[in-house]
Amino acid sequence: MTAPRPLNLPDAFSARVSHTLGPDFPAFLAALDAPALVSIRLNAGKGVAVTGLERVPWSAAGYYLPARPLFAADPRWHAGGYYVQEASSMFLEKAFAQAVAGVDEPVVLDLAAAPGGKSTHLAALLPEGGLLVANEVIRARAHILAENLTKWGAGNAVVTQNDPTDFGRLPGLFDVMLVDAPCSGEGLFRKEPDAVREWSEANVQLCAERQQRILADAWAALKPGGVLIYSTCTYEEAENEANLRWLLAREDVENVPIPVDPAWGVEEIAVGPLTGYRFWPHRVRGEGLFMAAVRKTSGSASPRRGRAKGLPLAMRKELGPVADWLREPAAFHWLKWNEKLVAISAGNREAAELVFGHLKVVYPGTEAGELVRTQANPSPGLALSTYLAPGAFPAQDLDLETALRYLRREDVVPGELPNGWGLVSFAGLPMGWVKRIGNRANNYWPKEWRLRMDLADALRDGNGALPFG
Ligand code: SAM
Repeated sequence: MTAPRPLNLPDAFSARVSHTLGPDFPAFLAALDAPALVSIRLNAGKGVAVTGLERVPWSAAGYYLPARPLFAADPRWHAGGYYVQEASSMFLEKAFAQAVAGVDEPVVLDLAAAPGGKSTHLAALLPEGGLLVANEVIRARAHILAENLTKWGAGNAVVTQNDPTDFGRLPGLFDVMLVDAPCSGEGLFRKEPDAVREWSEANVQLCAERQQRILADAWAALKPGGVLIYSTCTYEEAENEANLRWLLAREDVENVPIPVDPAWGVEEIAVGPLTGYRFWPHRVRGEGLFMAAVRKTSGSASPRRGRAKGLPLAMRKELGPVADWLREPAAFHWLKWNEKLVAISAGNREAAELVFGHLKVVYPGTEAGELVRTQANPSPGLALSTYLAPGAFPAQDLDLETALRYLRREDVVPGELPNGWGLVSFAGLPMGWVKRIGNRANNYWPKEWRLRMDLADALRDGNGALPFG
């Protein structure tokens, strides 16, 4: 049986996958010809719920959508109510549960984190007192990552912009390390046709070599007994199984099995004593993915690290009223960082000191206030934080059109708000600040996040696309 060849797949790729899949190859081709699935992961911290949608079976917060709505026209998306994420990637939830079992206040590294799908997921899954370091080497992408984590609103993440080699300064710091490696992207062929055009055998080889370099550079930062979760969105043996074999040959590791339900259709692959998990689009409800988890079984329990400079702690008098803007001020360290008052989860102070002392921090945690002379203004991150104290500011819920106007940074004057700082929300989800002065109000939605879509288009094409409960 032959199926039409979709997307003009490269011959070398087709030959390889056809060899691997044998009689299943036409089903694979047919799946690539079908529309990509659309899925979202809800932000439980913000209490968003949906009705009547099919759940992604390996994630408590993941749901499939029947069609792709215009997400940019939904204020809930801008407010971090959910993250648009491909379903297979949410399998991280199962791997992370194994990796973090029994660890108190885990310190977690997401080494290649932008744009933040897996980081926002880890932030949601991280046990109380844990710290997530979300790192991205490319500067512009690190800022997108920071934006997405700010909107997600969890108080337990710091964004750094470092090369994997820099993590050699932090030996044995991380209990869990995710390496979601840059790869040849075959698993995205259906979703991103550009990935097909960019594919070549030479690039697969280049990716495999780069992945080994990244793993070699970052390995020392994993604690003995800690768990590496390695993932790619490609089917290539050279970028998946071969890298696990390479790790096995170099380092002392043992398998961390990830429980799968046979009904999900995930392929389990034995790589010596290790197990890899492969998602094929004709067998699972998701795109192509590979994931494995391995425990580091050797290394010094208390490795030598450079002295950390200490956290840039804010003084009580600098904090003023800002501490009371968060629900549980005592659950945080309060920092003064570039004239901002910042809250990071109080667990694991040593880890936080090391991160601030040895890495380039671009997003320090929940930015709660900005010091302007002797006063503090509320920061955009505070409005979006799940720790914002209810009632700390007068608030008004906006209708859809006004909310979209606000996101476009138009002048919106919420009639119920008194003079001064006020919080605007949509469907109960806080979005950002306005400062009312009589009949005027200044719009404090950040310029860089401004919705550029035409208002009429947004209203026509976006309204009511998602069945929120
Ligand atoms: N984990 C992300 C998520 O879930 O949204 C996706 C990560 S993407 C597969 C891989 C990331 O690795 C990209 O953001 C890319 O910029 C970064 N990257 C590229 N080259 C790298 C390198 N040499 N070392 C570390 N990261 C690199």
